[in-house]
Parts: sequence; C-alpha cells; structure tokens
Amino acid sequence: MNTPPPPSDITTVFPELAGYERTTTLLHPRPGTPEVHESSIGGPLLWPADEPWPTAQVPYDQEAIPLVAVLQLWVRDFPELAHPKDRDVLQILWCPDDNVDAFDMDYFRTGLPDAGFMVVWRRSEDVTEVLADVPRPAGDQTISKGYVPVPCRLVPERVTEYPPAWVLGQAFDDHAQRRDDELDSHYNRVRSFADGSKVGGWHADCGVGGPYFGAFVCDCGTPLSPLLSLASTEVAHTDRTTTTSYLVPPAAEPRGRECSEPTGLVLGNWTNLQLFYCTESWDHPVQRYVM
Ligand SMILES: [Zn+2]
Repeated sequence: MNTPPPPSDITTVFPELAGYERTTTLLHPRPGTPEVHESSIGGPLLWPADEPWPTAQVPYDQEAIPLVAVLQLWVRDFPELAHPKDRDVLQILWCPDDNVDAFDMDYFRTGLPDAGFMVVWRRSEDVTEVLADVPRPAGDQTISKGYVPVPCRLVPERVTEYPPAWVLGQAFDDHAQRRDDELDSHYNRVRSFADGSKVGGWHADCGVGGPYFGAFVCDCGTPLSPLLSLASTEVAHTDRTTTTSYLVPPAAEPRGRECSEPTGLVLGNWTNLQLFYCTESWDHPVQRYVM
C-alpha cells in the first residue's frame, strides 16, 4: 500500500498543529485465508486448546452463543500497538447477536455487559497447542448482519495524521471550521486523521456525534489514549486521495467492495468502533465508543 503524499503542508495553514502529528498504521484488510500465526480480521485465533471458547447468553435463546473472532494483531507485525509488557498478541471477540450488543448505534460509550465484547492480551509462547475445533453459532442461532467479519489478511501501512480539531479544544475547533470555510483547506474531514481501520495515531471520527471535548476519560481520571479503530469502510486509494483521506466522496470513485468494504463489518451506522486504553494501567478496562 502506498498512500500518495499530501498536496501541501497543513501546518502552513494551521501552525497550531505543529507537534501534533502522529504515525498511525492503517490495516488495509483484504479478503483472504489468514492463518493462526498471522495478524488478521476475522481469521483464526491463537487460542489454547485447553481454554474454553467464550460464549454469551442471548435473551431469547436457551443456548449460549459462541463469540466470533474479530481481530488478531501480533505486536511483531504492529510494533506501535500499545500493549501490556510481556504480551505479544491482541485478540478481540464479540457476540454476533445485536441483542447482546458488542457496539451500539448511538454515539456514546457502550454500556454493555462484557459478555458481548472481549479483549484478550496473550503471550504467544504460552500457547503450545491451538484449539482446533472452534465453536461456531448453531444453524438456528441468529446472526446479526455486519457482525461476523469476512476473513482478511492485513497489509500495514504507516502514515502521518493529525487530530480531529475538537481534540485541541473548542477555540481551535471553531477556528478550523472558519478557516476550512474560508480557504477550502478541508482540515476537518480530509487533512486531519486517517480514515479506515488503524492502530495507534489519533481517534477515528465519522463527524456525526462530536465534538467530544474532554469526553474520553478513564474512571481513574486519566485521559484515554486511542488503541485502535475498526472501520465499516476502508480507504481505497486513488490518485485523488491525500495522505489521510479522500478529497472526493468514496461513492464517486469506481472500485471494488473488496477494497472499500472488505470485512463486511457494519459498525454502528456505518461508522467506526474506536477502542481506547488507559496509560495508567492495563488493569483498567479497554473502552469502546462508536464514533
Ligand atoms: Zn485508568
């Protein structure tokens, strides 16, 4: 993957942004047949044979439904992934039934039982025998659309991005809006943060629910840091893109859905699931927002 360079230096328009650039790693999922020792979306997990596969109880169903594997990232492939010391694999699973919702249509912190969403930090050397027969939802169990990812390999690409304007506070948010209107500088939706599934960097933001001034704080009082985000739609490169995003709406560009919607995930109202972590302690829960 090779995102074209930005057409100009955005800090000439917004000198306030100096020092706020961050590197984010785009995942660029592509449908394929990932293996257990690879990073993937929707691929097999490095799961110990002697560890029970997690399930969730659905209100109307007698039988608990197995969670589905959503994401596996090896620190080896994504060294910039924030992670607990001595853990080298991140795994995310969730319940594929929207009655036990892993995420939410609304633009706020999901207040859902942990049964519907699971983050596992694993030490790969602990897994000597991998679970071969992974439980899957039974034929008569309801699977909600957009909850089970198409197996995808990942093609990491590192790009530089800047924060959504609200991260720098109300005054800069207003200022950026005015300048964008005056100069067509496209900061807020094009020249700031990268779209698509990514690790590290700045928050995803579909631009509907914010601005989120001071909204993301751990219960311990520490501001939360972006861990990764999963997107319903990915950036498919064209010669009209910038470093971080589109200059034209995706619908205007011809491309295959294997590029723009490779995972088949529909997160909220076609938006992003943003995960945050607390820099104070990995014992504090990873939090998730649809935004
Ligand atoms: Zn905390």
